[in-house]
Amino acid sequence: MTELADKLRLTCDLTDAELKALIETDDRETAKLLRSHADEVRRLHYGRKVFLRGLIEISSYCRNDCLYCGIRRSNSSAERYRLTRKQIMMCAENGYQLGFRTFVMQGGEDSFFTDDRICEVISELREKYPDCAITLSLGERSRESCKRMKEAGADRYLLRHEAASEELYAKLHPSELSLSHRKQCLYDLRSLGYQVGAGFMVGAPYQTTSDIIADLRFLQELKPQMIGIGPFIPHRCTPFADKEGGSLGLTLRLLGILRLMFPKVLLPATTALSTIAENGRELGLQTGCNVIMPNLSPADVRKKYDLYDNKASTGSEAAEGCAMLKKCIEAAGYEVAAERGDYIG
Ligand code: SAM
Repeated sequence: MTELADKLRLTCDLTDAELKALIETDDRETAKLLRSHADEVRRLHYGRKVFLRGLIEISSYCRNDCLYCGIRRSNSSAERYRLTRKQIMMCAENGYQLGFRTFVMQGGEDSFFTDDRICEVISELREKYPDCAITLSLGERSRESCKRMKEAGADRYLLRHEAASEELYAKLHPSELSLSHRKQCLYDLRSLGYQVGAGFMVGAPYQTTSDIIADLRFLQELKPQMIGIGPFIPHRCTPFADKEGGSLGLTLRLLGILRLMFPKVLLPATTALSTIAENGRELGLQTGCNVIMPNLSPADVRKKYDLYDNKASTGSEAAEGCAMLKKCIEAAGYEVAAERGDYIG
């Protein structure tokens, strides 16, 4: 099995049958080799640098009803909030002082944030922080809306495709959402000049190895600058409350595979990974990850952005835990890069 890790390192690709074997193996030697190859490749392109992105969770209102998500509209026990423009600017100010040079505004699909309102915030951020990247993660918006936000100063957009298999996509989402529309949004974003991030949950209910291979093939076609993956974690108030969560082993294997397939991609060690394992972030970094997204949201709303159970938002997951985070990153063998951290392709 180790020869498959070698081949992937050398050629950045494998056949479907080879990928299946690598995704499914629990061979420790292969996991070790995958990890050391992934680490070498990330060091080749990015050295020991880890880029920080300050995450501002601007709204927990969502018009969508994704079956896995704790802020889905039919979760009547979810606590809803939205940040004001002033609050968002205060989060950014705090982040800037802490050394962040990328701000990520993420939220549910909240119709309060019309183009006028969101563009007003983007323009203000752009004017005040010309040296920072502005990333959006606001779900599916029209091409026109994305164009206006780009013109207002946004640089990047994160929109996980969630599942590239039609069948799996339909099992995870209500019928009004479609994979073709999600993909169209990603292609629109790319053609508008955004740096684009796609990705999926690992171990989502009903996900098979062929579904994961379909995800990898879609990513090869899209060629995103960023890829976000993290384990699925059940939320108690969703239809998937009793489903099993994604495993640490599979998530790490896939991170290693992604680093080897997409040598220069920006790859975060996600909050979900830190949530399922205390040393998840460090393991992620050692398996090819080079991005971390600490939480800059006001402390009193963090618990309300409740995507899955026990979501980590304190300690070194929180922006104010920066000193602790720096130590963890250094202890894992890397260094914090106080820069925008653009794609180098
Ligand atoms: N509304 C935007 C969108 O749809 O892209 C951004 C917010 S959405 C809550 C951010 C990501 O959270 C989703 O892309 C999804 O993959 C992840 N997520 C939601 N529920 C999750 C769960 N139960 N476990 C792990 N990740 C989850």
